[in-house]
Amino acid sequence: MIQGIAASNGIAIAKAYQLVTPALTYEKKAIDNPNKEIERLDSALATAKQELEKIKEHTRKEMGDEHAEIFSAHLLVLDDPEMVNPMKDKITNENVMAETALEETANMFVDMFKNMDNEYMRERAADIQDVSKRVLAHLLGVTVPNPALIDEEVIVIANDLTPSDTAQLNRDFVRGFATDIGGRTSHSAIMARSLEIPAVVGTRGVTKSVKNDDVVIVDGIEGNVIVNPSEDKLAEYKEKQAAFERQKEEWAKLKNEPTITADKEQVELAANIGTPDDVDGVLANGGEGIGLYRTEFLYMGKNQLPTEDEQYDAYKTVLEKMEDKPVVVRTLDVGGDKEISYLDLPEELNPFLGFRAIRFCLENDDVFRTQLRALLRASVHGNLKIMFPMVATLEEFRQAKGMLLDEKQNLKDEGTAVSDDIEVGIMVEIPSTAVTARQFAKEVDFFSIGTNDLIQYTMAADRMNERVSYLYQPYHPAILNLVNSVIEAAHAEDKWVGMCGEMAGDSIAIPALLGLGLDEFSMSATSILPARTQIRDLSKEKMASYKDKLLSMGTTEEVVEFIREKTE
Ligand code: PEP
Ligand code: MG
Repeated sequence: MIQGIAASNGIAIAKAYQLVTPALTYEKKAIDNPNKEIERLDSALATAKQELEKIKEHTRKEMGDEHAEIFSAHLLVLDDPEMVNPMKDKITNENVMAETALEETANMFVDMFKNMDNEYMRERAADIQDVSKRVLAHLLGVTVPNPALIDEEVIVIANDLTPSDTAQLNRDFVRGFATDIGGRTSHSAIMARSLEIPAVVGTRGVTKSVKNDDVVIVDGIEGNVIVNPSEDKLAEYKEKQAAFERQKEEWAKLKNEPTITADKEQVELAANIGTPDDVDGVLANGGEGIGLYRTEFLYMGKNQLPTEDEQYDAYKTVLEKMEDKPVVVRTLDVGGDKEISYLDLPEELNPFLGFRAIRFCLENDDVFRTQLRALLRASVHGNLKIMFPMVATLEEFRQAKGMLLDEKQNLKDEGTAVSDDIEVGIMVEIPSTAVTARQFAKEVDFFSIGTNDLIQYTMAADRMNERVSYLYQPYHPAILNLVNSVIEAAHAEDKWVGMCGEMAGDSIAIPALLGLGLDEFSMSATSILPARTQIRDLSKEKMASYKDKLLSMGTTEEVVEFIREKTE
């Protein structure tokens, strides 16, 4: 049994699918027959072409024309004589292997295009890079996994699943996944929960212990992975899987009920989503709103920025599906572990402390304004609220809000309808903002506490690094005190406070947060019904009476022990 971190509830049993990119290295050798090398190159190009045609067709069917476009661009590169002829000339003139000719030619074009001012050409550089890797793999006879082509039930095994890998997975066949790295709040874990598939992350080496086609059990409840189980084990886990399904049926009874405590206080249970497709899961799980729409997924899994109309369509779909329920959309939060390759942002030593989110948007105001306009246009289709991520200073908020108001005026001047009731808030995920929440509360309409980041910045413990995960303590008194001061600051100005970090759906944290007076809890859709079940048995008044005691405690352990004792 391999132990990891339980990242998404449930039990999955299926064959393993290794999503690991093989090393594309080779030894340079002298050649004696250039024609043979040219033949090898032609054959690798032809195989890559067939493969891309297949992926393109599959993607078009599963995800639509727009997602398939990226592969058309790759096919164009393969067919371009200006790309292929120099490779062949290199083989003949310089007597080099097909691999070397391919790599050197591709690198030359990549370098040339990458430094051009023209965005279209920069995108071509990324295409050439991708395609040449594919052809090189064929020359070397190694298999590059094609997740888009998965057509049977599998458990994906990977070192990590980046958001863009996840965007390419075929959702119908991926039953679960297990990764080497990551924690409960890494984006692979968050995606697993929104796809409602069991996942275990941070196993520190599952990729080394599992081969393609091994039978794998992913136990997302306990955080274990079992490889090639015995008959007895398999039976035990099938029973566990059935018990989990029965438990889900119990929870489902509260689907259409409001979230009311034992002493008749109401709170809102909302969901976090990444794409418009996730909304069905939110409604099926009894979500009362969307507390966080992570719009960065609109920018991923493609090779160019989404247009204003594409974004408008996505926002409109979410707002309409949610009818008049609140939908909090977060503006682009690129950076950290959320990489968008075509933006070509330079690598940074500390990406989580770097040029990301609102910092990027304020400097790239063309990108930002396109998103704001799409949001404003969509605002007439439902109950839209907008929030800015990673705000560290009041100036950033004022500048971002200023741009929003500018675009609103521009749209009105153009005769486009825009709602006049859009609340504008911020995420509180940086300690400076939590500490000065009183000042912010005078200017924002609401706060949403992003504990995934707030905890990592407060404890100085990278949320992706399992070696310091012991310091990543949601229930630490430092975190509870910060959360409390944000709630007090907001309530003093009659503003509401939500929490959209993973802590909001955590069964130990929920009683404490209720006592601190949190208004909205936003979590993975699958956590909503268990949370509602739990809250109905809790008294808000009683939890509030423990507030001073909790806030003055010294350690996480004391907090956990106290909450367990008081909620038993
Ligand atoms: C957070 O930081 O708590 C949050 C919700 O944002 P993300 O997980 O996308 O960084
Ligand atoms: Mg965050």
